Amino acid sequence: MDMHQPGGHGALGRLVAGFDRFRQDHFEADHDLYDRLLDGQQPEVLVIACSDSRTDPAIICGARPGDLFVVRNVAALVPPPSTDGAPHGTAAAIEFGVKALGVRDVVVLGHSFCAGVRCMLDHDHGAQRFDYVSDWVEVAREVRAEMDGLVTEAERVLVARRAEQAAVLTSLRHLAAYPFVAERVAAGTLSLHGWYFHFGWGVLQAAAGPEGPFRQLDAGEQPLPAIGRAAEPRAVRCPVA
Ligand SMILES: [Zn+2]
Repeated sequence: MDMHQPGGHGALGRLVAGFDRFRQDHFEADHDLYDRLLDGQQPEVLVIACSDSRTDPAIICGARPGDLFVVRNVAALVPPPSTDGAPHGTAAAIEFGVKALGVRDVVVLGHSFCAGVRCMLDHDHGAQRFDYVSDWVEVAREVRAEMDGLVTEAERVLVARRAEQAAVLTSLRHLAAYPFVAERVAAGTLSLHGWYFHFGWGVLQAAAGPEGPFRQLDAGEQPLPAIGRAAEPRAVRCPVA
């Protein structure tokens, strides 16, 4: 294992310099916030996002420390509930956010040009086989079946965008099947949202319902579209750049 300390140059050096800026501009400048966070976190929103380096939810939504409880994985997928006794990282993060932190909103944040969704679409079509990714993206295999009928009639690039949004809707269906999620949605204490960041266009969209369609989010929109809606949904501030 390479444990060299990062020097003053290169990618890791930029991160260390970035931390210096963070410490000066935020940590040392905003004592109230960081003192409060010492007492514990109370994020109101759980975001399930893709590991893709271009779609950091805190950066694209201008969130501050303490605002978002985030789980990121390949393609921003939520697997269906499982009782097989195996460790499940994404489900564990969702359970902790919902049960322990009591978040009010869960956002599944898909994005354009998602390599994970592409991998899922290409499965069995001669695509590169990954040891772990190929099995993981099968979480959303129903999307492939949904898109197969479209391939002949739509351009490949359009199918990819449709599939990315369909994967968000599939993850929301899986999410709603967790009993602790379903209970809270029924009780009106939790709302589920499907968002899609099209970074080619610089646009943030939200699913209008369980089957879509995705429409551009307006920062002044109140209430925001929810798939399962809490009784008194809170606004999630996310300015469209
Ligand atoms: Zn992705």
